[in-house]
Amino acid sequence: MNSKAAFRVSQGGLKDDYIFAQMHFHWGADSAQGSEHTIDGVRYPLEMHIVNYKASYGNLGTAVQKPDGLAVLGVMFEVSNTDNAALTPLVNALANITDAGALAEVATAYPLQAFLPKDTEKFYRYEGSLTTPTCNEAVIWTVFDTPVEVSESQLNALRAIKTEDGNKLINNYRPPQPLNNRKVLVSGVGNSADSVSMKKMSLALYVMSTMTVIMMNM
Ligand SMILES: [Zn+2]
Repeated sequence: MNSKAAFRVSQGGLKDDYIFAQMHFHWGADSAQGSEHTIDGVRYPLEMHIVNYKASYGNLGTAVQKPDGLAVLGVMFEVSNTDNAALTPLVNALANITDAGALAEVATAYPLQAFLPKDTEKFYRYEGSLTTPTCNEAVIWTVFDTPVEVSESQLNALRAIKTEDGNKLINNYRPPQPLNNRKVLVSGVGNSADSVSMKKMSLALYVMSTMTVIMMNM
């Protein structure tokens, strides 16, 4: 997805403004897997990444070369009996892009905010890498604690997308990596075994009012 209007992220421990670059999803063959992060050991069937680059670096290509170049927001999805309305236009568009390389423009314009959980104050923060090659160590991760909903039929629409060799595009997630002494910070108060809490802080999310979505096969 791309947008001409700027969605920006700042505060919440970030030292600069970050500008929206793209968003994408990771999912599994079934709902027992799919997310790249686990929260208290729980794996989710779908995880969305909203990729933003540091404004002062000017563009995504420069930013990925820097250790603080990207701020990625991670949103977990849990299975619900009802569709997630924010996903509906995308799921409808998927019918046109089941083959690799296909592209569909989604006519619906809606705020990126619609994808975020209601509670964006509880999140986990660590410095890490992109989860896809080249896995640059350039990412400040913000993983929201509160999941949002997705229905099995919406998940199945994602699972129907085909790769270049005609197979189903599934399990496009990287399993959790060793922490390697990295600290995982938790917003607000609270502690867990491998987490350190930081003082209560909230992200400032400057959400564009509308966006045009262009989807392409990953
Ligand atoms: Zn990702």
